[in-house]
Amino acid sequence: MKSLRYLYRIGRGPSSSHSIGPYRAVKYLKKNYPNIVKAEVTLYGSLALTGRGHLTDKTIIDTFAPIPCEVTFDYKTSVPHPNTMDYKLTLEDGTTLNKRVFSVGGGAIKIDGEVVEAEEEVYPEKNFDEISKLCKANNWSLVDYVRHYEGDEIFEYLTKVYKQMMETINNGLKATGELPGSLHVKRRAYEFLTSKFENESSVGRAYRSIMAFAFATGEENAAGGMVVTAPTCGSAATMPALLKYYQKMYDEPLERVVESLAVGGVFGNVIKQNGSISGAEAGCQAEIGSACSMTAAAYGYLKNLSFDAIECAAEVAMEHSLGSTCDPVGGYVQIPCIERNVLAATRAETAVRLAEYAADTHSVSFDTIVQTMLETGRDLSNKYRETSEGGLAKEIKVKK
Ligand code: SF4
Repeated sequence: MKSLRYLYRIGRGPSSSHSIGPYRAVKYLKKNYPNIVKAEVTLYGSLALTGRGHLTDKTIIDTFAPIPCEVTFDYKTSVPHPNTMDYKLTLEDGTTLNKRVFSVGGGAIKIDGEVVEAEEEVYPEKNFDEISKLCKANNWSLVDYVRHYEGDEIFEYLTKVYKQMMETINNGLKATGELPGSLHVKRRAYEFLTSKFENESSVGRAYRSIMAFAFATGEENAAGGMVVTAPTCGSAATMPALLKYYQKMYDEPLERVVESLAVGGVFGNVIKQNGSISGAEAGCQAEIGSACSMTAAAYGYLKNLSFDAIECAAEVAMEHSLGSTCDPVGGYVQIPCIERNVLAATRAETAVRLAEYAADTHSVSFDTIVQTMLETGRDLSNKYRETSEGGLAKEIKVKK
């Protein structure tokens, strides 16, 4: 498994595979082929079907600028990966170069015949069972496990990640008005946080702040603001919401909240390795289900759950996200994405409560649920895998 740096990436929304991936592809091509004078890009699969709403064309054109660039949407040609792009680059001497690029989820890219980044394997364990056995044999926590392979530097990076998460929430709470695009979705974070609800209990108030924090990040992401993939842009709002709530509520030291990101990251890494974090590959269970699972593990760590109870919380959070489809209306990461994060943040909290009580009697392992998620994702019709051809995306007609 790879460094947690490649799980938590800082970049612009609204989509890790549809905006961060293409952005990184163009940056890479410009850096490695400095003589480009013109670019023609064809988007296929999910990138073509939902690219406009995900700002894929705009991201590519803006990143190539001032080099002129034309983007074509090919809705028909079948491709080996749902997020495929062809780049035809004209160089200064008049020759052309063709590059096929795959945006494989979480902002990572693969380019035929090139090594884009040396994402070396830093964790030799292949699944959570192996991680668990190693930790128990050495009497390590999951934080010790991450430190063993990635050293103290990873915690410096995770501190940056956490600070960005908090800045994104603050930006989202300050912003008002409508989100970009033709859905006319109103930003609700600040209003939801500050509204008065009659006879609201303290628990209700606590839940409302978690939800408002998730709205804030989800809205920032939809508006193309800076976010952290956790594990993707579409699912970026779940984890920061619950962590901010906990830090604020219990005045938790920054160091421990940062450690909780490492704990959540171990589970995210296992999902990335053995399941999927891509909605185009396995539906929303792979994005928000994974975010919910990572958040439950992180929150479980903050609540001092045992090693096995943390695994249980992560498992429960994924188990009850199974089957969730990816059907962004109009291709925008707004409906159902933003509210889905909001609900996932509260579900992660509930998963931790259940794990506190039921870890000893729970019988589904984390590895089993990851495998189940992947198989369920493979069985989902293509309509429900980020193509905007089924579900809500089909029922709600949007003017382009
Ligand atoms: S429905 Fe889920 S997987 Fe699909 S774009 Fe929205 S957040 Fe991502």
